[in-house]
Order: sequence, then C-alpha cells, then structure tokens
Amino acid sequence: MDRRTFLKSSVMAGAALGFGFNQVGRVSVKNRFETIIANGLVYVGDGKVPIKADIGISEGKIAAIGKLGDLCDKFIDAANMAVSPGFIDIHTHTDTNFHSCPFGDSRIYQGITTDIGGNCGGSPFPRADGKDIEDFYSKLNKLKIGINYKSYSGQGTLRGFVVGPNDVVATPKQIARMKALLEAEMKAGSLGLSSGFEYVPGSYASKSEVIELCKVVAKHNGLYAVHLRNEDDNVEEALQEAIDIAKTSGVRLQISHLKAQNADNWHKAPDLLKRIEKAESEGVDIAFDRYPYIAFSTGLSTFIPLNFRQGTVDEIIKRLKDNETAKKIGEYAESRFVKLGGPQNVVITSSRKENNVQYIGKNLLECSEMSGLKPWPFVRQLLIEERVNVSMIAFAMKEENVKLFLSHRLGMPASDGSLYSPVGPLSRSMPHPRSYGTFPRFIGKYCRDEKLMDLSEAIYKCTGLPASRLNLKNRGLLIPNYYADIVVFNPETIIDTATFSAPHQFPIGIEHVFVNGQHSIESGKSKGILAGRIL
Ligand SMILES: [Zn+2]
Repeated sequence: MDRRTFLKSSVMAGAALGFGFNQVGRVSVKNRFETIIANGLVYVGDGKVPIKADIGISEGKIAAIGKLGDLCDKFIDAANMAVSPGFIDIHTHTDTNFHSCPFGDSRIYQGITTDIGGNCGGSPFPRADGKDIEDFYSKLNKLKIGINYKSYSGQGTLRGFVVGPNDVVATPKQIARMKALLEAEMKAGSLGLSSGFEYVPGSYASKSEVIELCKVVAKHNGLYAVHLRNEDDNVEEALQEAIDIAKTSGVRLQISHLKAQNADNWHKAPDLLKRIEKAESEGVDIAFDRYPYIAFSTGLSTFIPLNFRQGTVDEIIKRLKDNETAKKIGEYAESRFVKLGGPQNVVITSSRKENNVQYIGKNLLECSEMSGLKPWPFVRQLLIEERVNVSMIAFAMKEENVKLFLSHRLGMPASDGSLYSPVGPLSRSMPHPRSYGTFPRFIGKYCRDEKLMDLSEAIYKCTGLPASRLNLKNRGLLIPNYYADIVVFNPETIIDTATFSAPHQFPIGIEHVFVNGQHSIESGKSKGILAGRIL
C-alpha cells in the first residue's frame, strides 16, 4: 500500500467508525468474541479524535469495533484507558538479542508490538558461514518471539561480505554481486536497505555505489534508512547526500535518528528540517525518526578515525598499540572530546573483561581518576583490552531540538535501542534507557506533560505513521480485519522509569499488550506468550 492509499483507507476506516458502530465488520452484538476490550477510548492510529468503543478480538484479528456487549471468553474493562494500536519501533538493533530473550522484555513492556531491526548498516545476514536472511528468520520462527519483527538488509554488512573490510572502491562485478544478494533478500522479506555511514565498512561506499543498491530497493518499493555520514559539523552535506541518493534511485527515504550533534551545531536543526521539507516538495518520499533523549549511544571505536578503523580487529588493535599511529588517533579522539563538551560527557556502558567492569556507568573523567590515565590513554587501553568492542553514551544534543524534531509532521519516535532484560545475559550492560522507555516517555513527557501535541497525533506517530512508512499490511491501525496488535495504557500515568544510571526498568502505565490477538501483558504482568511473527 502506498502512502496515499494508506491514508485513504485510514480515512475510510475513521468514517466507518463514525457511523453505525454495530455494522462495522458486519457483526451484531450476538457475536461471541475471544476477547472484548470494553469502555476504552479507542485511538485508531490515524491521528483523528478517539471514540469511546469496545473492541472485539477473534482469531488474532480485530473482529469488530463498536458497542459489543459482553459475549466473550475474556472481558477487559478499559474504562479511563487509552486503547491504541501496538507501538511500532521503526529503528532498533533488536536482531540477535531475541536469542537471549525471546519474549522481548524491554520492548513489549513499553507497549511495542513490532520491532524493525537491521539498522545503521548492520544486519545479521549475510554471514561468512553462508547463513542468509532466510536462515535468520527461520531461526527466530523456530525460537518463537514475543513481538513482531522485520529487518532491513545492512549495507555495511553486505559490503563487508562482498568487498571486505577495507577502504577500497567496489568493482562493477562486486556491485553486481551486492545487488543480486540484495534482490534475493528483498524477495525473502527484507524491508529495504539501511546504511550506517559513520561505521565501517559501510562508510567506504561511494554515493554512486549506494544509488545502485537503492535502485533494487526502489524496484520492490522498499525503504532506505540512513544513518548519515556525519551528524555534527558536516550534517547538512550528509543529509544532502541521502536526499541525492533517494532522488537518483527513486527509493523511499527514512532519515535515521535525525540530530544536530555538539553545541556548535545545535543551531542547524531548523535548517535540516527545511532541507527535508524541500526534498519532499521536490517529490522525494521522505520522513525521519528520532529518540526522545539528548544523549546518543554508539561504539567507543567511533573515536578512531575511519581510515584507521578499516581491516580486521587485529589490524585495528595493532594500530592502537603502535605509538606513532596511536598519537594521530589520540589527536582525533581528543578533538572529539572537546566538541562533545568534555570527557565528562562520555559514559562507558559496556565492557566484558573482569577488570574493566568497574568502568561501566562511569564517565571518562571518572575513569581517568580510577585508572590514573588521562582520558585518551584510558580509551586507548580500554579499546585494546576489549578488542575494540566497547559501548558508550554521550550527552551532546539540545532538548529544544529533540522537541522540534519530534513535533514535526514527518518525524516519529524510534528508540535506536535494542532488546534488553533486567534478568539474564541481557542485564549485564548499562544500555541507553531508550531501549526501555522510548514510547512511554514520548507520550508521557512530550505529549502529556509538555503538550507538544495531542494524544491522537502522538499515537499516530507511534503507530499509523511508521506502519505507512514500512508498508506493513493490516497493521498500525485499529480497524476491523487488522491484526490485533493493541496496547491499553493509562494516559494519566504512562511514563518511562529507566534512567542512565539504572536503565533496566520497565515503564509504568502500560496495562495490557496484545500481540496478534494474544494477551501477552495482562495488568502490567507478562503472560510469557510468544505470539510475535516475522512480518
Ligand atoms: Zn545509527
């Protein structure tokens, strides 16, 4: 469904809801439903005013909406509650974390019923051992998962697989190979392509190389999600590159986690939005997402310049160990500390070695005092000891800009987070709280408390809008015959509770979550049902 048909169908659904409730879906009050969610304020997910109605669920789908009586196996009184389509997180890194927590703890407890993975250029396929998207999806299907999921193909992963880890120009033959692989992945259920141009090896691709790949995505009416080549000093040029790629290839474009990073660039936010609006007026099908926090999260390795980040992990470590090269890397890293407002704005969030666990949750100034090393020598040592694999958070964005992006009509919230759990292996790092709190925070803080928009519009941004970007079939709205992905929440109390110092905390106010008609969260408690699907 393209955007226009989608909007048309939502308008029609709204009209249907407005007139003659009982006729919707041709049911009478005598129908027996598996579940009735009664007396709630129903938000269709199209941005229009809510209606007081009951929702009848049968066989995984919304069977009827209207005044439905009480003939059912399970009756839920949702008086004073908002009834919304399940939230759709268009930008996550959930991916293989399902293997450790199939239910999807940090996702489903915040009302998310669909996660979109494979972002920022990295997908779990294709792999060096020959495993492809079909293997990945079938493994998740076999495992059974608690929420719905679909993945992009990672352009960085694809390039690493075909061209290798180095900064070289792809040959025509290699480009053809990447296109053929992408074509096969699109046919096997990939959403489209994602780029993470600040990461290696995806960043080594030229604009024209990516345009070639995006033509494949455009052919299948997929989506191209791009983490821009730069998000601070050169963010305008980076945004322009993404727009050029979309214009030339005809691909539909999603700018990932839009930002103007570092204080020197905060003033650029309105200009970025103007550029996006201009592209839209010139015919580019464009939108963007943004997490509702001022801190970003990434790998500590991003303090290594791109040209020193190529090759294998051993090659990178060799450069870090070499005093001459490390000096150059250090100069770059230190200039980045300054731009970020100082090393106190950078917090270490994961490390695996016993003696480095003490640094988790500490900022680089604190780490410096603890280790007796200055910030750069500390970062250098940590990267070497942890084989480059360390996560970090940095506080580098402006609250006003977060509000500006989230309230723009083309903007939608997305976590850029992943799947975590307060128990088990996924509890051992200190993730950005966005993985637990994005949607309740967006609705509780930005919509209710700060009144950036009304609840209908906020819910549209969490449901109908991402569903239309993703072309999800029969999801994202509360309409008869749509899948019963539903969240029932208390609009007075909904809020995130996860913080940077204590991230593993579920939000409050999420009462019920239904995934494909199954009652997965009941009165805020998990039923442990694995009702999710690969979409
Ligand atoms: Zn990213």
